[in-house]
Amino acid sequence: MHKSTLKLLDKLGLIDKITKRSIKLNGNNLYVEGKLVQKIVFEQGRDLNDKNISIDQSILEEILQNNLTSSNKEIRWGKKLVSFEQSEDSITATVQDVVTGVMDLISARFLVAADGAKSTVRKEMGISFKGVTTPEISFTFDAKVITSFYIKNEMAMFTKGLDRLVVVPLPEDIYKFSGRVSDSWIQLHKSNLYKQLATVVQERSDIEIDPQTIRGVSFYHTASRIATCIKDRRVFLIGDAAHVFFPAGGYGLNTAIEDAFSLAWRLNLVQKKIFNRVILDDFSRERIENALQIQADSNQKKAESEIIISSAKEFVKKEMQVYKQAASGSSFVRVDTFFSINKLKENSRLVRKNLGFSLLVNTNSEENLTALHQFSRQMQADSGLTFRVIQLINEETSLIHDETLCLIRPDNFAKIFPLSLDSIGKSLGYSSSLLG
Ligand SMILES: Cc1cc2nc3c(=O)[nH]c(=O)nc-3n(C[C@H](O)[C@H](O)[C@H](O)COP(=O)(O)OP(=O)(O)OC[C@H]3O[C@@H](n4cnc5c(N)ncnc54)[C@H](O)[C@@H]3O)c2cc1C
Repeated sequence: MHKSTLKLLDKLGLIDKITKRSIKLNGNNLYVEGKLVQKIVFEQGRDLNDKNISIDQSILEEILQNNLTSSNKEIRWGKKLVSFEQSEDSITATVQDVVTGVMDLISARFLVAADGAKSTVRKEMGISFKGVTTPEISFTFDAKVITSFYIKNEMAMFTKGLDRLVVVPLPEDIYKFSGRVSDSWIQLHKSNLYKQLATVVQERSDIEIDPQTIRGVSFYHTASRIATCIKDRRVFLIGDAAHVFFPAGGYGLNTAIEDAFSLAWRLNLVQKKIFNRVILDDFSRERIENALQIQADSNQKKAESEIIISSAKEFVKKEMQVYKQAASGSSFVRVDTFFSINKLKENSRLVRKNLGFSLLVNTNSEENLTALHQFSRQMQADSGLTFRVIQLINEETSLIHDETLCLIRPDNFAKIFPLSLDSIGKSLGYSSSLLG
């Protein structure tokens, strides 16, 4: 999981729980024919939320589910969405209980399809999922190693001839192994699969694993696809339903969580009729743009891993490049593009923990500050979300120019404005008497 995702989950107060059940992921090692040829170091910050980590996805899902149920939100398990209809002001979904087969109708104002790469919703809407699926078969499984594995808290990629093996450490001394095998290999070894997978690992990496500890074996085709449209009136696609990427870079789950944050605050504010629907169109534009950048990055990483020996140096330089895009003046960009939240030394906690908006302001004008506080109180009263005005202090003021304001959204995307309430309001689709 990337730092930027951890910072989002920190806003939900989950950082301690996640830290306890994850390990730090400090880098990646590239072995060619048994020799270490390249070491990539992942930057780790000091704060708990400023780390790249490795966590079992099922553990993360358990933490998120507990967080929902402990705040009295209900999760209805075993209900399959069969079809849906949308009208001007609502959605009616038909769901089926997978045990009893009983059909039920659910009405809602919006439908958020987080139903994975084979999304029923996407198919029902006839949206195409453009891109490629590789013909080769990939495998993945978790296991414990017998020989003590010499790389702690780091990934490794082993390449021997045309064979590849990726090893990712998980908590509790478990490792995730993935690579490719042929269809004929699977047919030949399916009666003795675990032992043969252990042999593949040993042949490609010299790592000895205990076949008895193998779990979660799956064979699949990797794909890189993006939906041609992720919003149709009241229906939204997020996560794998909207996009799938090649595994290099580990973007899938990270992007899914970011999609959810990016959509949640918008739905909240549009539903309360505080902001106009333009921000929902912005969601669609921004997230498709983001998915295209990630797709380009993961496609390139995949291509580089095929010719890994000659391009090892390049591979290092491009790590996480997609999150370091230069800020464009016209759109909101990931806050880390401007500055790490942690660089806001005194104010970092206020911003980090804020599930609403933060308005960082660099001014000494009492008049401006009073106007901003009034604006924030109005926004807060209208929306129920925090609009926290934070006056930068001391060295923090170097982060943005004097008489400017940095608006940080709940999904940690930010934009710097001249100190004018009008431009902020307009960019959020917000109209208030305060703005004239
Ligand atoms: C081997 C492997 C390794 C990966 N490693 C990484 C990694 O290191 N980093 C990373 O960021 N990502 C990784 N990913 C990708 C990551 O797992 C996905 O991107 C992520 O799970 C997407 O989440 P999602 O909620 O959109 O979809 P999913 O996790 O697929 O969840 C979809 C859910 O919808 C349910 N559903 C489907 N249809 C219906 C229906 N009709 N009605 C009701 N429910 C339905 C499904 O049962 C499922 O629970 C990996 C994926 C694989 C396969």
